[in-house]
Amino acid sequence: MSLRDVTATIAKACAEFKRPASAVTLVAVSKQQSEAAIIDVLHQRQRVFGENRVQEAHAHWQNLRTQYPDIQLHLIGHLQTNKAADAVALFDVIETVDSEKLARALADEMKKQNRHLPCFIQVNTGDEPQKGGVSVAELPALLAVCRDIGLNVTGLMCIPPVDDVPGLHFALLHKLATLHGLQHLSMGMSGDYPVAISYGATHVRVGSAIFGARDAA
Ligand SMILES: *Cc1c(COP(=O)(O)O)cnc(C)c1O
Repeated sequence: MSLRDVTATIAKACAEFKRPASAVTLVAVSKQQSEAAIIDVLHQRQRVFGENRVQEAHAHWQNLRTQYPDIQLHLIGHLQTNKAADAVALFDVIETVDSEKLARALADEMKKQNRHLPCFIQVNTGDEPQKGGVSVAELPALLAVCRDIGLNVTGLMCIPPVDDVPGLHFALLHKLATLHGLQHLSMGMSGDYPVAISYGATHVRVGSAIFGARDAA
């Protein structure tokens, strides 16, 4: 696979499920990839990237961002409250809001830095204890807090359990977004992004299908 293959697959899925191609944003997941591989994808005009760790994202993007000012960086991994300041400074979208404590830390930092980033709430649709995200039951309360403190939540994000049929989780996330009037749905990875598009994904997070396998180190 390659960026070109993934882009073509997205276009095909959009056509098949009667969605405009502009409805789906490809978030190229650059975690654990070399700088050369990232630059190669930048040269192919990809501009939206996802990283799951603040420190690694900093190393990857601190310099490249000045060179490519139109880059949009999404945080797609768990964020610790004590790294909220760094995350707000570096990223453009935070996809992994999953607690009231984190929501408050982010809202405070955004005010301090005057950088008001759109956020998604991560929902643990499979109720997996090792995974981040709020449970479906906790979602309305967290949304209410976010709205109360002025955190701009525009969407939901999920990572289905590896052994489950992903469509069930994508359908659930879509239902929740509709119920709460949220516009964005970040769902689908290398193994299942066409399925996610069929369920209304607006953002697909694709790593290995673009870059190849990640460096095991
Ligand atoms: C690594 C990662 C991805 C990309 O996974 P691939 O299977 O390589 O496409 C997507 N979303 C999250 C949250 C990730 O951590």
